[in-house]
Amino acid sequence: MKKILALALAAVMLFAFAACGQTAEKEVLTMGTNAAFPPYEMVDENNNIIGIDAEIAAAVAEKLGMELEIKDMAFDSLITAVSSGAIDVVLAGMTVTPERAEAVNFSDSYATGIQVVIVAEGSAIATIDDLAGKKIGVQSGTTGDIYCAGDYGEDAVARYDNGALAVQALQNGQVDCVVIDNEPAKAFVEANEGLKILETEYITENYAAAIAKENVELLEKFNTALAELKAEGKIDEIVGKYIKAE
Ligand code: GLN
Repeated sequence: MKKILALALAAVMLFAFAACGQTAEKEVLTMGTNAAFPPYEMVDENNNIIGIDAEIAAAVAEKLGMELEIKDMAFDSLITAVSSGAIDVVLAGMTVTPERAEAVNFSDSYATGIQVVIVAEGSAIATIDDLAGKKIGVQSGTTGDIYCAGDYGEDAVARYDNGALAVQALQNGQVDCVVIDNEPAKAFVEANEGLKILETEYITENYAAAIAKENVELLEKFNTALAELKAEGKIDEIVGKYIKAE
């Protein structure tokens, strides 16, 4: 009898162990981002990366039965990281551009962004037309950087590792303005005295997730999950949590 009990116990333990093993083996979805782009990604007081992109990726991962892991890196290293397989997917308020689409596949778009101009209150810059001949602060490798360097020349742009540093340079008078996406622009202007966003907008663009060219399977799964989340109203819910309608 004792023997049977022991055997039964061993069987139960083995079963429990196997079940445990299965959850521990949950596949990891590694997302790369640059966590200085509020409200899409930022670091909270507990050092967790939060924001719209983090929550969308978490919702997609949940649908795929995967566990989300987020890596914070420089914005201009994200495309290389995803194409080399160091990360599985980029969600970084990343704009779909033809040049990037040569290196990676983009998912369906989940948000739009607008390039805007931040200036100091009382600045002589009143519209986009006043940017010629000015020093423009940008985040290195972003579309703001690419467009401004293209429109006003390499010498016109001063490149920073993230938007916050570009805004700091504006406050220190090292640049005349900052070109950056509208939502982070709002967050930076709110957090810093004496800045404003120009009424005239520069360019409207689409944000999407970037996935390695070879990883067609993940691209399809990501798009399916994203479509479901859109249909369920989950994407709107996440965006609404961080961006209040005006
Ligand atoms: N949307 C811009 C781009 O893709 C900026 C993104 C960012 O700074 N995280 O270049």
